Amino acid sequence: MIPTLNVAQCRARGMLAGAFDFEYPPESDLLDIPFVSFKGPAKVHLEYAIAEDDTVEVEGEISFVLEGACSRCLEPTENAVSDRFSGVFVRGEGDGETYGYRNFVIDFGELLRDAALFALPSRVLCEHCGEE
Ligand SMILES: [Zn+2]
Repeated sequence: MIPTLNVAQCRARGMLAGAFDFEYPPESDLLDIPFVSFKGPAKVHLEYAIAEDDTVEVEGEISFVLEGACSRCLEPTENAVSDRFSGVFVRGEGDGETYGYRNFVIDFGELLRDAALFALPSRVLCEHCGEE
């Protein structure tokens, strides 16, 4: 599951930086490639750092496997996808560049949705078609 980060608790404990490793099921509606689906969970390594003004910088890596039909020849194939991501969380409303959070609790769901979308290729190719 996707963890949440309680900024107030972290501050109280003096834990101003840390990391999470977790898996979660990616939302299938992110996928826009015909005959392709996520195989298993997405894996995430996520690091955070809490600044003096409660701005929280996040960076990490997301990886997942796509399985389905090659976009060119329709043979069954699998593609491993991996990409780095980053984001900045601010108290209150985000402004499009940043993500907002309230009540000292950060939900990484929206960031991960964006990270997965950004990591997704426009098509999936089998070994043979990928070589050309
Ligand atoms: Zn192919």
